[in-house]
Amino acid sequence: MELKTENIVKPGELVSLADYTPEYTGTYRKKGQTKTRLKKLNKQLLKLQGLLYAESQHSLLIILQGMDTCGKDGTIRGVMAGINVQGCDVVSFKVPTADELSRDFLWRAHKAVPSKGKIGIFNRSHYEDVLVVRVHDLVPEQVWGQRYQQINDFEKMLVENGTVVMKFYLHISKDEQKARLESRMSDPTKHWKVEASDIRERAYWEDYMKAYEVMLQKCSTEWAPWHIIPANKKWYRNLVITECIVETLRKLNMKYPEPAIDITKIDIDD
Ligand code: ADP
Repeated sequence: MELKTENIVKPGELVSLADYTPEYTGTYRKKGQTKTRLKKLNKQLLKLQGLLYAESQHSLLIILQGMDTCGKDGTIRGVMAGINVQGCDVVSFKVPTADELSRDFLWRAHKAVPSKGKIGIFNRSHYEDVLVVRVHDLVPEQVWGQRYQQINDFEKMLVENGTVVMKFYLHISKDEQKARLESRMSDPTKHWKVEASDIRERAYWEDYMKAYEVMLQKCSTEWAPWHIIPANKKWYRNLVITECIVETLRKLNMKYPEPAIDITKIDIDD
């Protein structure tokens, strides 16, 4: 199954998120229909990760963004199920510390970019600096307004230096967020997940949609396109993202390196 082309934002394309249905599940109707396929993809991803590590010519940076409860954590669990944890780092971007605020906004992101051979996942990312920051005017418009170009330049530099950058916007509906928040509130084992900020930010839903649309329009580039992922159905979200990552890694045509020594001349003692 190929990602529907309308899920990949073309550079400069005006995006209206209302036109994208978060409920979309392609040709699938229920989770059961995708389980076998996802397992197969997870295995393929493990193999490709091994190749990425062996070859060590590229690194893979996966950026996950979306509204609260959109499923960034669940995506990491579902997509990365079975991969070698030694070759993968997950970095969560929280409210910047004083130290981080005293540097340029890309400093903490750059520090966290995976090294060659590795996969890095950004749970939130430098895009918060044109999302929450824009919605709440945390810096003047003149400052956040320059950041789209700065982000594009930064990502281009990464790509030119061997990092593959994949960006996924997990698209859920406002109703789905309500249902997920309510479900957390009715399950004592999930109470800890309910945060005042989730409820507070929900009130800014429309402002966030606008900020996301501008981000998608300005920062979907040939070298690092944004993917809009229908994410109301967790199983479909995981399937599409895994498929997309496997496809991208395959296209790198990676090869196992030649052995450093002549294997035919080695005798292993009994
Ligand atoms: P999550 O919601 O990702 O599971 P948290 O509940 O700790 O994790 O939320 C992290 C918070 O940090 C979010 O509200 C997010 O908007 C905020 N944040 C991240 N980056 C920035 C930033 N650059 N400036 C201000 N707030 C930020």
